[in-house]
Amino acid sequence: MPRMSTSDAHSRPLRKLRISITDRCNLRCAYCMPAEEYRWLPKQELLSFEEIERLARIVRELGVREVRLTGGEPLLRRDVEELVMRLANLGFDKLAMTTNGMFLADHVDELRAAGMTSVTVSLDTLRPGRFERLTRRTGLDRTLDGIRAAVAAGFERPKINTVVMRGFNDDEIFDMLEFAHEVGAEPRFIEYMDVGGATDWSASDVVSRREILERVHARYGTPEPLVGRGAAPAERFELPTGQRFGIIASTTMPFCGACDRARLVADGRFFTCLYSRSGVDLRSLLRSEATDDDIRDLIAGVWRERTDRGAEKRLELAARSPLASRAELASDPHLEMHTRGG
Ligand code: SAM
Ligand code: SF4
Ligand code: SF4
Repeated sequence: MPRMSTSDAHSRPLRKLRISITDRCNLRCAYCMPAEEYRWLPKQELLSFEEIERLARIVRELGVREVRLTGGEPLLRRDVEELVMRLANLGFDKLAMTTNGMFLADHVDELRAAGMTSVTVSLDTLRPGRFERLTRRTGLDRTLDGIRAAVAAGFERPKINTVVMRGFNDDEIFDMLEFAHEVGAEPRFIEYMDVGGATDWSASDVVSRREILERVHARYGTPEPLVGRGAAPAERFELPTGQRFGIIASTTMPFCGACDRARLVADGRFFTCLYSRSGVDLRSLLRSEATDDDIRDLIAGVWRERTDRGAEKRLELAARSPLASRAELASDPHLEMHTRGG
């Protein structure tokens, strides 16, 4: 079937799909998984690679051009390279992964050979003590090795995602820029978001885009905005030194107006916004007699009705607090960032 374009109620096309392939994670980052124990999605409810591939083929026909694998920690899903190969064969413009990087060095060559086009590694601090405090696990070196391995494997400028939190790591912005430069990666500073899972979020912990830019300016000179952002979450800048970096200002300057991303959770629930309270169960459809046309029509219909602008609505609130309480998260794991896939 030829590729078409599917636009929502605000004329935003469906162009990108983030697929969370597991809700499990080996870390417990305080801003994402503050508890120790979680109620995991039952294994039999996770989509198989065949099911993910089938959905990916269908959304590609609806106009999706870019796919990002995420989690939980996507490298915990066994044989992930096989999934990458299946998706690469469908012919997306971009096939990326967001990972905490701890298992990346072991997988990166195979991922690249399988057709992965880009990698983003989450790294919030370069200090082992802080890493342990934030993630409640050891192993910063493994993440650093993972980033270096991605560069060595030939991924051009892997991205480093850093959530900037006041009083925790906001004194490492320059260190992160310099580390990224040294290893050949591109840093992206992310504003701390009040998403599900971030139960300790407070507005005073957010270091805004404006503040990050001011600090970088004072140290390195004026960061010049790069043109051609399109619908990308990151706004990119170039320093007088030539170094490039990005800022993802989801909290203080949301970009919902251009948002072309949908999310597929590991158990087949389809969400049209990071902040949506509910999603559509595609697994039941996949495991029924439904044809590809039926599934395509359903997804297209859901996207056409889409009016989401979750982060903009959060910004309009007079007083902001975490999206969901611990009790709400416990009763609906789909609200969790590690389930939804970031
Ligand atoms: N485990 C993988 C990782 O950490 O890269 C992939 C999943 S993680 C949920 C995806 C991204 O969401 C990470 O870059 C993480 O830093 C980001 N994230 C999680 N909670 C966040 C929050 N409260 N605010 C901003 N970013 C957050
Ligand atoms: Fe940290 Fe990613 Fe795991 Fe969340 S899913 S706890 S951000 S490593
Ligand atoms: Fe898109 Fe929702 Fe994020 Fe806004 S909050 S950018 S609509 S996913």
